[in-house]
Amino acid sequence: MVTKIPSDQIVIRPPVEAYSVLIPVTGGCSWNKCRFCGTYKGVYGVTQDYAIRNVDDVKKDIDKFAERNYHGFPVFLAGGNPTSAPTEYLVEIIKYVRIKLRDVQRVSCYAKALDILRKSEEELKKLAEAGLDIVYMGLESGSSTILRMMKKGTNAESIIKAGKKILNAGIKLSLYIILGLGSHNYSEEHVKETARVLTEINPTIFRFRTLNILPGTPLWDEWKAGEFELLSPVENIKEEREIIANLGNNVNSQVFNDHVSNYCDLESANIKQDKEMFLKVLDSLINDPRIQILPRRNLIRM
Ligand code: SF4
Repeated sequence: MVTKIPSDQIVIRPPVEAYSVLIPVTGGCSWNKCRFCGTYKGVYGVTQDYAIRNVDDVKKDIDKFAERNYHGFPVFLAGGNPTSAPTEYLVEIIKYVRIKLRDVQRVSCYAKALDILRKSEEELKKLAEAGLDIVYMGLESGSSTILRMMKKGTNAESIIKAGKKILNAGIKLSLYIILGLGSHNYSEEHVKETARVLTEINPTIFRFRTLNILPGTPLWDEWKAGEFELLSPVENIKEEREIIANLGNNVNSQVFNDHVSNYCDLESANIKQDKEMFLKVLDSLINDPRIQILPRRNLIRM
């Protein structure tokens, strides 16, 4: 049974924020059209409409965490895309977090490229000054063709602009890449264009996820109809290998495979320094006969 839940309940957060203070700021997603995503459309048993929460209610939640002595933790401002909210509203909340909770290690939230492009450089600087440290943004693919096919509502050039704007404002940027998102037909373009976009932006961090197709999404229907193919484990690892191999020499991002969907758990504090090591380990996985015959799993719970 699918239940509609109010905006003060949290549906997802990044794995890296598992031990953070989670404060709901927006509910749902203002876009809600990506063909691979059903986060707010029932794949986790709940739906949630897009909403910006009342600022006083958010402050009451922060007060409760302060009363319970949740000091010294990172804080994640939850919801699909809090950066869709007005800047003054976000500044007020971030400042309140910093006043009420002591020694906050980090304040973060999800961000969508188009919401970032709608904000001026000044507005982004105000968010940085208030204490927003890092945003998590779905690049998914650097290929505009794949982004269009997946109804991401953005293209490579917008993401490059948004990414640079975030970094220039002094906010760290973590990008997600979905391996296998172009299936076999667009795998080469996915690899080449993703490496190009990463090279243009040089984000603070980029993280790999592997495409898993969730029931109830438009991509599920396409897959079930035989019109979309999942890549095998070794093909996914090859895509990651080629993305890393095609990065420009300027890219010194941190890299993580920190999701249950990944077929390796490699990470780097600086891919410029670790590139050779990364490629060597990925090559050894690609050439491992056990990996070559590993059956493909499609996770429907993550
Ligand atoms: S923008 Fe993010 S949350 Fe919204 S539909 Fe796309 S993937 Fe899902």
